[in-house]
Amino acid sequence: MTTTILLDSSSPPKLGCFIDNEYCQGHGQGWTLYNPKDAGQIQELVGASKDDVDAAVTAANRAFKTGEWATSSGAQRAKRLNRLADLIDENAQALAYFESLASGRPYSMVLQGDIPRVADVFRYYAGWADKIRGDSYAPDDGFYKIVEQKPLGVCAAVTAWNGSLHFLAWKTAPALALGNTVVVKPSEKSPLGTLAFGSLIQSAGFPPGVFNIVVGDGNVGHALANHMDIHMISFTGSLATGKKIQVAATESNLKRVTLELGGKSPAIVFEDADLENAILWSVRGITANSGQICAATSRLFLHKNIADVFISRLEVAFQAIAAALGADPQEPTTTYGPLVDKLQYEKVLGYISEGRKRADMVIGDSQKSGKGYYVAPTIFKNVAHNSKIYREEIFGPVLCVETFESEEDVVKMANDTEYGLAGAIYTRDISRAIRIWRQLDAGTVCINCAAMIGPQVPTGGFKSSGLGRALGEYAMRHYAEPRTVWIK
Ligand code: NAD
Repeated sequence: MTTTILLDSSSPPKLGCFIDNEYCQGHGQGWTLYNPKDAGQIQELVGASKDDVDAAVTAANRAFKTGEWATSSGAQRAKRLNRLADLIDENAQALAYFESLASGRPYSMVLQGDIPRVADVFRYYAGWADKIRGDSYAPDDGFYKIVEQKPLGVCAAVTAWNGSLHFLAWKTAPALALGNTVVVKPSEKSPLGTLAFGSLIQSAGFPPGVFNIVVGDGNVGHALANHMDIHMISFTGSLATGKKIQVAATESNLKRVTLELGGKSPAIVFEDADLENAILWSVRGITANSGQICAATSRLFLHKNIADVFISRLEVAFQAIAAALGADPQEPTTTYGPLVDKLQYEKVLGYISEGRKRADMVIGDSQKSGKGYYVAPTIFKNVAHNSKIYREEIFGPVLCVETFESEEDVVKMANDTEYGLAGAIYTRDISRAIRIWRQLDAGTVCINCAAMIGPQVPTGGFKSSGLGRALGEYAMRHYAEPRTVWIK
């Protein structure tokens, strides 16, 4: 089998739009990308103007309505999606490098964690492309009734920086499998990995206009949310932006909206838990990606009989991470990187400073001196329940620890949040685990592990954590409209 290398790590994409299968210069706002490991400049980029967004949507609309894609069979779409998945694998190193550069996410994490999963999501939905079913009903009332799934048209995807390629795959793979066309806008904080996708799209054989990319800030996202020729927008990002997107979608053409938003997820450790395992996953649950994960288990509830031991073990693990603070995220051995930018860094330090007044700090005093935006993993206990660190999503490596005695109390505390994205339960008692799972307000709960995702099962939030689901067969419902015919 030949390997097709299309991307070169030393040459990140320079143009801010990919429209009709061609890279082109944006005509909107320009900005500079910085590497958060040292605040060094990476490159400048010019984003899309409103006219560029219109051009991308026009191309996508044309490709949806006319030509090869409009008449493609599921098998033909599957072939392109499978080829794209292979190209993702074959160009993994450059993709991971581009993703790491401006986000500060460890290259190793993106290479070994994100890239294979992203390729698997395209393969998973390639498998669905020729299995799109409808329904038919017996003519017991004198009429045949047939229902089929019709693709929507142009679907927009607006994504966050903390896992851009995951979100790109979660949104575009089901949309394309069903025959829609897409316009993707990555976060302005880390757009390079997404932009590099243009080369893979060309080579995978997608017809022009099927997959378009525009970069830029919230104004570009708003132009998509507000666009009259876009029929669906799928968003991953903060609650505040998600609300704006829903308003713009409603006030324009009532386009469909799915929202993958934030979280303040609980992890509950019972006294019968396998403590080694619970400590391992609890550490990962708040330090992976330096805490910048929507499903981070940022509130840890410990049974009072194990709380002291558990906290001292966490302290040891956090010390080890802090000892390596400042490592270069682009080095293959680095596992803990900086926060994404100065804004996020100052925001997280603000929460830590509030925590010092409203809680007891167990560990977390060290910040790396120098230019990088590194924050040591931090634990607070005895946290005031009305404090910001207890209630708001911090999106950094800051853990609030609370103790409990009864199941009833811990369920009440775990659900006492506006969010409902994820949760974790650690116990050897499977009946108890299932009982607690069914009481938690959370889209995904992990038992004896944390923050899991996979192509077959839906992910998404209850309450203010979102609308709709990504992944699995469930996600496909968002990208097709059922239409019915009655036959006499
Ligand atoms: P953000 O809301 O600041 O930005 C997300 C995207 O929205 C970016 O592309 C941005 O340019 C765009 N945007 C900003 N203003 C807009 C507007 N008015 N209209 C349209 N688009 C606009 O979020 P972020 O800082 O990039 O990401 C962090 C947030 O994302 C956290 O809250 C995190 O929990 C959440 N998140 C959720 C999931 C999930 O699956 N539930 C996954 C990852 C991240």
